[in-house]
Amino acid sequence: MKTPNILIVEDETDLAEVVRDYLIAAGMTVDMLFEGTDAIATAASGKYDLLVLDLMLPGVDGLTICRELRKTSDLPIIMTTAKVEEIDRLLGLEMGADDYLCKPFSPRELVARVRAVLRRRPSNEIGLPVPDTRLLIDGDKWRATLDGADLDLTRREFSLLAALAARPGRVFSRDQLLSLAFPDDTAVFDRTVDSHIRNLRRKMNAVGEWDPIRSVYGVGYAYEG
Ligand code: CA
Repeated sequence: MKTPNILIVEDETDLAEVVRDYLIAAGMTVDMLFEGTDAIATAASGKYDLLVLDLMLPGVDGLTICRELRKTSDLPIIMTTAKVEEIDRLLGLEMGADDYLCKPFSPRELVARVRAVLRRRPSNEIGLPVPDTRLLIDGDKWRATLDGADLDLTRREFSLLAALAARPGRVFSRDQLLSLAFPDDTAVFDRTVDSHIRNLRRKMNAVGEWDPIRSVYGVGYAYEG
């Protein structure tokens, strides 16, 4: 078991230090960089389990860092931005970050996100528990079970849940969910996604008192199973 080692790249030093203190209090070790120039090489050094990456940075910006890093590394990345609208744009760019967080965020929220991303990673060397899989999705039978009980989903609900659960933690916009879950179904619209999500949550809560779908304000949804 290994203590998770986190790299923070953030030019607001006060914020970086607060985040560092919270991560250390949560049992992790932390290094910080206050600008982007050396971030790619440092993050790719293999020393780190997760990168907390600010978008707007002096030197090399977060977008470039994320893209360059993704060419050679699957290091988990949480991107932080100052504008919620930015997140939508970043999602559209498919940069491959694992999560996005809008400033101002509470350090507690960041710690929770870091834990969630680390838990999703298959590497069992990291000293965090791996959750059991409660949800089983059978694409051949269009059937999803929670704790062994059939959720009795409609086809659209099933498609939506399957699309979300296929990429745990990835934040999807409503548009992305529409094209992923209903590529040939032109009768489904943006806000229809919301009503299907509501139904999914109701059914999962009824069967297992469980809601693995996270609403991302102003953006869309993510599956946090
Ligand atoms: Ca910044």
